[in-house]
Amino acid sequence: MDIRSLIKEEVLAQRAYGVEHAACPVKLDANENPLAIPEPLREQFAARLASVSLNRYPEAGSPALVARFAEVFGVGADQVVLGNGSDELIQILCTTVARPGAEVMIPIPTFAMYRIAARNAGCRVAEVPLDGKFDLDLAAMRGRITAHSPALIFLAWPNNPTGNCFRRDRIEAILQESPGIVVVDEAYFHFSRRTFLPLLGRHENLVVLRTLSKVGFAAMRIGLLIGSPALVCELDKVRTPYNLNAMSQAAAAFYLDHEETFLKQAEEIRRWRGELFAAMKTIPGIRPRPTDANFIFFDCDFDADQVYIKLMERGILIKNFNAPGTVRNFMRVTVGTREENSRFIEVLQDIISK
Ligand code: PMP
Repeated sequence: MDIRSLIKEEVLAQRAYGVEHAACPVKLDANENPLAIPEPLREQFAARLASVSLNRYPEAGSPALVARFAEVFGVGADQVVLGNGSDELIQILCTTVARPGAEVMIPIPTFAMYRIAARNAGCRVAEVPLDGKFDLDLAAMRGRITAHSPALIFLAWPNNPTGNCFRRDRIEAILQESPGIVVVDEAYFHFSRRTFLPLLGRHENLVVLRTLSKVGFAAMRIGLLIGSPALVCELDKVRTPYNLNAMSQAAAAFYLDHEETFLKQAEEIRRWRGELFAAMKTIPGIRPRPTDANFIFFDCDFDADQVYIKLMERGILIKNFNAPGTVRNFMRVTVGTREENSRFIEVLQDIISK
């Protein structure tokens, strides 16, 4: 029997999302918060998790949490969906709109899961290259909207991997002109501190995504979607009832109880980002791009594949984006602790001086 003969062609044609498993002591590849949960809180967190009833199903749809987050965001409880990471919310969005021939439009380069989720759901994917400044090519996107009416447009803001926030007026033009849903993915909100949330009332087609993954809770997989009540009602039909497990629900509540601790960590990371950027700028042949996120996209005068491998051999893992075209010799490094960033700079300097 050939299992492949049963699989739909969109799945056969893909590659699974690539995660590097090399065990490097300095891990700067996944845009995580480099800081652990601080000590007095760690024990309280353990106690909170220990109180979860493992024999019971979690609260379906996490209503208590939804109400708390809705209050934080200043929206109705009928406007919030929680997900097993924002990855799951991206998947739910794609599945929900995937009528025959439905199109999902994304700029490239951007977060890989948009494409993967859209294809798996059976959507067509229109990839529109960013302009020379890694900003949205408004004319090209407008053209695609007019000709093909994408059902869903994903805009990461700030964008991953490029790190920049697209020009706000360009996103507003797309929101205004698109008959489809426009998702502004604010996964890196804690480092950009810019948001489209206040525009929710004005645009029924606006959806905002957030996550707790970048502020210290990546292991718990907690994503948030904020949108119109009419859309949330449909998404809730696609979402599985217990999508956020009880440990994750407990963790999300714990995060809200102690949010200021994690926001302080994000603030510290913003400072370290400035230091890392300045240090990278002084290295000849390394060009860091301005960033609003907790990572820096940079290109170099050297073979990025070689630099990436040599960094890895010396215990430093970053993410390699080297490919022909606009991202030739580009890599992305996550802002780590001060010590990790210094080590990265030191080893990078050493590698390229040889
Ligand atoms: N959106 C963007 C832009 C991201 O970069 C990431 C994580 N790399 C995600 C969403 C997924 O986040 P989560 O951990 O909440 O699934």
